Amino acid sequence: MTDPKRPMVLVTGGAGYIGSHTCKILRQRGRDIIILDDLRIGHRAAALGAPLIQANLIDREKVQEVFEKYQPSAVVHFAAYAYVGESVTDPEKYYFNNVMGTLNLLAEMRRAEVDHLVFSSTCATYGTPDEVPIPESHPQRPINPYGRTKLMVEQMLHDFDHAYGLRSISLRYFNAAGSDPEGEIGEDHQPETHLLPLLCQVALGQREQIDIYGSDYDTPDGTCVRDYIHVNDLAEAHVLALEALERGAGSNAYNLGTGRGQSVREAIEAARHVTGHAIPARECPRRPGDPPALVAGAARARDELGWTPKYQSLESILETAWSWHRAHPSGYDEEGES
Ligand code: UDP
Repeated sequence: MTDPKRPMVLVTGGAGYIGSHTCKILRQRGRDIIILDDLRIGHRAAALGAPLIQANLIDREKVQEVFEKYQPSAVVHFAAYAYVGESVTDPEKYYFNNVMGTLNLLAEMRRAEVDHLVFSSTCATYGTPDEVPIPESHPQRPINPYGRTKLMVEQMLHDFDHAYGLRSISLRYFNAAGSDPEGEIGEDHQPETHLLPLLCQVALGQREQIDIYGSDYDTPDGTCVRDYIHVNDLAEAHVLALEALERGAGSNAYNLGTGRGQSVREAIEAARHVTGHAIPARECPRRPGDPPALVAGAARARDELGWTPKYQSLESILETAWSWHRAHPSGYDEEGES
């Protein structure tokens, strides 16, 4: 049961991949949460029994009702569509949901006088970087509608702080990966497009091979380099950001990554090692819109939030992903979710 006198944290998108891992850690820290999720992407089972209102942020009346009923003291905002390819073919869906939905949320925060928010942003706001590792001060020039929706929200947040004193921390994730080491929740996207879960699916025999999207990049082994960061380390950063805002910290943005890059070939090797399966791979053309290398300059989150990622190797991240996928070969559907 939730205590009506204790301040609540409203978590939008709390039944999604990163949202659910953050909710679990918030609750372990004794925080009362209320999840707002339309369950189009999220899974009810991922909420682990936390109170959940099934609604979309576009439904302004519903959002207002949630603020009136639960009187949250802060918001952690994940709810968004996040497929880069789909954002190119259906930008209306992305601008409507990610930008308009957030505007509704911010307007209701103002009305309810809730003045701090942690925002789920992305390294996709940088576009193709001029330098790697990428510092937060790097120009933000997103190259797809998804990245532009996230940048627009960062800009809205800047203006809402300036005009109304709504303080926020934007967390720019690099490549979220892995799953809850206790095995209760994990990664289940439909369709799956991300490298690490696809590698697990090949190891499980659900796919014949992994396609390497481009082997002629200007990188050490010709394949793309990414900074894979464990989802629980991301979750931890949200808790630290929330605590910083509660102590009065000003608005800011932080990169969340390990600061180390790994190539697609290195990820395949690591998956072979962790799963003990051969994992056939074939070289394919580049995927449009993939920058050659994305690695976080991660010093600001360490210095200012006191954040240190616990999972420092790709193998240790893959081990948690592999144990989730092995136990849940069809994702959450196995548990009879409606
Ligand atoms: N990738 C790949 N084959 C796949 C899926 C992804 O070679 O089947 C590559 C992709 O080009 C990128 C890296 O793996 O360089 C990580 O891709 P993912 O989709 O996981 O995350 P993104 O970097 O797009 O956020």
